Amino acid sequence: MRLEGKVALITGAGSGIGKSTALLFASEGATVAVNDVCRESGMETVEEICRTGGKAVFLPADVTSETEVAEMVQKALQTLGHIDVLFNNAGISGVGAIHETSEELWDRVVAVNLKGVFLPSKHILPHMMERKSGCIINMSSCIAEIGLMRRAVYSATKGAVLALTKSMQVDYAPYNIRVNALLPGTILTPFVENYLKSSYDDPEEALSTIKKRQLSGELGRPEDVAKAALFLASDESRFMMGAPLYIDGGVVFGKMA
Ligand code: NAP
Repeated sequence: MRLEGKVALITGAGSGIGKSTALLFASEGATVAVNDVCRESGMETVEEICRTGGKAVFLPADVTSETEVAEMVQKALQTLGHIDVLFNNAGISGVGAIHETSEELWDRVVAVNLKGVFLPSKHILPHMMERKSGCIINMSSCIAEIGLMRRAVYSATKGAVLALTKSMQVDYAPYNIRVNALLPGTILTPFVENYLKSSYDDPEEALSTIKKRQLSGELGRPEDVAKAALFLASDESRFMMGAPLYIDGGVVFGKMA
């Protein structure tokens, strides 16, 4: 029980990495505040946790809306009393080089992937500062470190999240709040399945190209990232501050011949 007695709020926990992390955190003793913009998938995560004896509540909100985020945080504090861990996980993809990216797509991806980290943090930090305790995990990506084709706005947001993580860490270290970032490689989730289907004529061929660029030769699983999130959320990582944690099958530091 590595998170016994802790309360964790996870954004975008109705699917993929967020859902897997919610299930793992609950199985390690945490009470999980499950956020998602989609009520149905968020409720499914909560029901799955409760069926297996865990504790969870659903807090719907679009992380790009300050009004909804403020309400979500208020409800979480009213219902659960405190928040120990915030995992800013919600995110969307955006495919295209700069000249292919519409202003609308740019604004949407920046809103979800970057403002969606800013707003929950803004509303939970005063509570953590008052308690002089807290842990924030921001979802970046290995794309913050390497160039990949036709991911202009997505890479811009994930690079920004990594820079923001370091800046947040400096500001909140005096309050005993740790802020770290996760940098996954390609993880097989609905996000990647949709992206493959919508961006390539031959999704199977695209998948085999992606597998080849990971030294592992395989895509990661949501549980691989959930376990890294668990480490960052627990006191085992107490000496990690403002750091990027790679879970990428060797994409960033490895090189195929
Ligand atoms: P996913 O399966 O699509 O899950 C993301 C969840 O976030 C979905 O339930 C989605 O709801 C929700 N969401 C989207 N916009 C939201 C909003 N405005 N407010 C609240 N929730 C919202 O994706 P995933 O692969 O698990 O990705 C999770 C995070 O990991 C993302 O930040 C992604 O960029 C990052 N990441 C993923 C990979 C990968 O290979 N999968 C690699 C590196 C980083 P809807 O389904 O209704 O949109």
